[in-house]
Amino acid sequence: MKFLICGGAGYVGSHMVRYLVANGHEVVVYDDLSTGHREAVDVDVPFVHGDIGDAVTLWRLFATHKFDAVIHFCARSLVGESVIDPYQYYRNNVGNTLVLLAAMREAGIHRLVFSSTAAVFGHPRSDTIDESHPTDPINPYGQSKLMIERVLADAARAYGLRSVALRYFNAAGADPSASIGEAHNPETHLIPNVLKAVLGQSAALKVFGDDYDTRDGTCVRDYVHVNDLASAHLLAVQFLEENEGAFTFNLGNGEGFSVREVIAAAERVTGRLVPHAFAPRRPGDPATLVASSLQARKRLGWQPRITVLDDILASAWQWHLQPRF
Ligand code: UDP
Repeated sequence: MKFLICGGAGYVGSHMVRYLVANGHEVVVYDDLSTGHREAVDVDVPFVHGDIGDAVTLWRLFATHKFDAVIHFCARSLVGESVIDPYQYYRNNVGNTLVLLAAMREAGIHRLVFSSTAAVFGHPRSDTIDESHPTDPINPYGQSKLMIERVLADAARAYGLRSVALRYFNAAGADPSASIGEAHNPETHLIPNVLKAVLGQSAALKVFGDDYDTRDGTCVRDYVHVNDLASAHLLAVQFLEENEGAFTFNLGNGEGFSVREVIAAAERVTGRLVPHAFAPRRPGDPATLVASSLQARKRLGWQPRITVLDDILASAWQWHLQPRF
């Protein structure tokens, strides 16, 4: 199949591109490089520098290539920033996605896989979150993703667009080749910050809060390997061959780890201490976010492969030892 990967130079997108190419699919990457890295995409993969809000460039792209499906990763994704500058989030994540959807419709492309997030749930009301859990985002980032999920439901009814929104819990790790990995600037995510602290590339890790109602007082999250996220996207496209409508699935490992447990695992994997200090809670952080991915397993046939926290950390560690960008 032939895919357009919007945001294919980003963290999850670049792993998606690798995965598709490795499985014999044809790929074009479309990215404005606002947060992604050109080096994350192999030189022999066609790359178009552009913004999904740019209807003219999209129109040209769709006139040149015949895509079977679009996988859409482009987004602003920092919760704190979304609270400070919500217009940027609604413009990028909602406004620009509408431009992409309209261009797809004009071009007759009827399948989309969309990156959504656990942030659509807001504060969880149960220990594990399945798809029937109410959505109630507590920040503009989560709102912007939920808005598009709703647009996709309407587009399925009105235009016959087939879509899957995949709600990632905590994407983590790196391709075992260690040639691509997580590189955000600024870096806000726990695992890269832990490893940077180990390497002395940052000051001591700040642990945001040790007074949560969890087993050790620190926040619990569900870390899912980025290549396992990639495999779910391809399964989702295949699922849409047989199924009409707009679907949502949660993607996680189903097991939560606290910040202290991640630190302990990083110390096992690296053989070094993680310099850290406790700091106040970070606004907007729920105590626990753990997915039930039963539906993705049952309906998509998804089978995550790298599920042990130490293995996820080990893959991230290999990347952080020698990051290429
Ligand atoms: N966290 C932390 N220090 C950091 C980064 C994150 O203590 O430097 C905590 C954060 O408060 C949350 C967990 O680690 O409880 C995971 O945060 P991350 O930003 O990686 O992902 P999120 O769950 O916010 O999507």
